Amino acid sequence: MILDGKGLSERRLALLKEEIGEKGITPTLATVLVGDDPASALYVRMKHRACEQVGIQSVNVQLPSETTTQEVLDRLKMLNADPDIDGILVQLPLPAQIDTHQVINAIVPEKDVDGYHPVNMGRLVGGLPGPRSCTPKGVMTILKEYGIQITGAHAVVIGRSVDVGRPMALLLMLADATVTICHSKTKNLPSITRQADILISAAGRADMVTADMVKPGATVIDVGTNHVNGKLRGDVDFEAVKAIAGAITPVPGGVGPMTIASLMENTMEAAIRRCNPAQ
Ligand code: NAP
Repeated sequence: MILDGKGLSERRLALLKEEIGEKGITPTLATVLVGDDPASALYVRMKHRACEQVGIQSVNVQLPSETTTQEVLDRLKMLNADPDIDGILVQLPLPAQIDTHQVINAIVPEKDVDGYHPVNMGRLVGGLPGPRSCTPKGVMTILKEYGIQITGAHAVVIGRSVDVGRPMALLLMLADATVTICHSKTKNLPSITRQADILISAAGRADMVTADMVKPGATVIDVGTNHVNGKLRGDVDFEAVKAIAGAITPVPGGVGPMTIASLMENTMEAAIRRCNPAQ
């Protein structure tokens, strides 16, 4: 089974558009883009396009490459205080002179639609409600919508980054999977991945997951986005692995569109909280 993240994201966005119309609120997302990295600019444009599609207002704060940490913090202070802004997303990675931790910590947790703020990470660890990181949230939506059994499954996550691997592992654990986290120092990776009922790769290494690393019938989720000779490749050797997996996400058209759908959902949830502060 091909897990069609693109189609699923279109359905989620259509539902969200309906909900926005019914509730009669207009959520607003502010993106902050520092510098002129073409990939980051493309991601920001895609997010604004999705906003337009569902009826979320969006504004972009474009800052030059030489911006200092303090200048970003000053902008965030204004966005935090602006009652018309529901969600704030700082496009990562930031230029090297900027302290990313300080920047993420400076977004008020209620507007942190990426779920990266330590308060929101703490809520995730504690199993409390709060905005979840968009990519892991999108993966969970794929698994749930396609009826993949998570309870009791052995889920193996390749990657332990703060934005993807770590929250991914926590969400799977909270959904009652038995989780193993692998990383670059893991010994004999294939012997671990072969035990996975659900294998999630977020390593950023093109075609690293080969067919001999996958248990027959497993669900394989490819988070990787790697640019190879001008083409987008996942972490998974798709053609070989799809012959052995029970279900698999393609790249492109798998996790990527679901990340954007999750961002839209998080922005809507932030707007609902603003309208009903008791919730
Ligand atoms: P990252 O910060 O570079 O983290 C990569 C993780 O993979 C690290 O934990 C690293 O281990 C581990 N790793 C690297 N090589 C490995 C190997 N050979 N064997 C086992 N583990 C290995 O990257 P990220 O931000 O998590 O992103 C991961 C990938 O997902 C990238 O391709 C990124 O572009 C993609 N991504 C896609 C979306 C989407 O929407 N589709 C969103 C976000 C990210 P160490 O910790 O030991 O270094």
